[in-house]
Amino acid sequence: MTPAIQLNGVAKSYGDTRALSGIDLTVEPGRIFGFLGPNGAGKTTTIRILLDLIRPDAGAASVLGFDCQRQSLEVRRRVGYLPGDLRLYESMRGDVLLDFIDSFRPEKRDPAYRRALVDRLDLDLTRRIRALSKGNRQKLGLVQALLHRPDLLVLDEPTSGLDPIVQDDVVHLLEDAAAEGRTVFFSSHVLPEVEKISQSVAIIRAGKIVAIEDVAKLKARSVHVIEVTFAAPPPPGLFALPGVRELRRDGATVHFQAHDGVDAVLKAIATQRVLDLRTQQPSLEDVFLAYYTEPELPQEERRASA
Ligand code: ATP
Repeated sequence: MTPAIQLNGVAKSYGDTRALSGIDLTVEPGRIFGFLGPNGAGKTTTIRILLDLIRPDAGAASVLGFDCQRQSLEVRRRVGYLPGDLRLYESMRGDVLLDFIDSFRPEKRDPAYRRALVDRLDLDLTRRIRALSKGNRQKLGLVQALLHRPDLLVLDEPTSGLDPIVQDDVVHLLEDAAAEGRTVFFSSHVLPEVEKISQSVAIIRAGKIVAIEDVAKLKARSVHVIEVTFAAPPPPGLFALPGVRELRRDGATVHFQAHDGVDAVLKAIATQRVLDLRTQQPSLEDVFLAYYTEPELPQEERRASA
């Protein structure tokens, strides 16, 4: 199956600043893919390369099998894009803007779908854009990205500026798009959001992809904290297992960390009579922090290793 997005060795510098150091990324079609990283990691740069708004210094980028540079028109035809720095025609009313956008692709006009999107986001289209709040502008930006049911949605920080209720509406819209077989690629630095929405995630840090995983696997691979109360203190050494660290004992209560999944430790626990068991599954935030707490290369070294 043709990937929705394929990046091979994509590098980009702005003068001395190395924004992307040769990234590789494949996004399978029909998935919701979160592109997670802190400010300045290179998310917007990557997205702009996909849309051919900027050009990489090296590497190849394709969208739905089309080369992002040589076939950028084909790409644009199939992509719905929400930029991070959304700029709209201030003096237009929302409905006039959407009519204008519709006029580019009259064959794809779908008034019922447009109405459904607008209703879902509770958007007032009769106001001029300059009079809209930041959240309502963002909603309008989302509607224009979704309007033609594109095969791929590329959304730079889609829920920024939205209150939690509207964020949920957006999540449902994106889930509906994926359920129709479309691909959603969105950037975020908001961890719970990525955890909630996406099936796959790439974590980018200082211009490098540090992890690409299924969200479920990423969480399963990380540390679990387990606290068990036994009927009697268990034999010493029972939990001397690979990937399991016994943190401390308080009488018959033992605290562990399991690093490679919970299977081995649960089997050892089950050899004893258990009164109580509590586990803490790490949030994506814990996982994310584990990646980010490694020392970051200073900018000078990033330049030197360019
Ligand atoms: P944010 O979440 O803050 O939008 P980001 O992950 O999208 O961050 P980018 O905007 O891609 O990151 O920026 C990557 C690096 O490139 C940063 O160091 C940034 O300062 C730098 N950068 C981005 N655009 C330019 C530009 N036009 N000129 C110079 N440097 C730039």
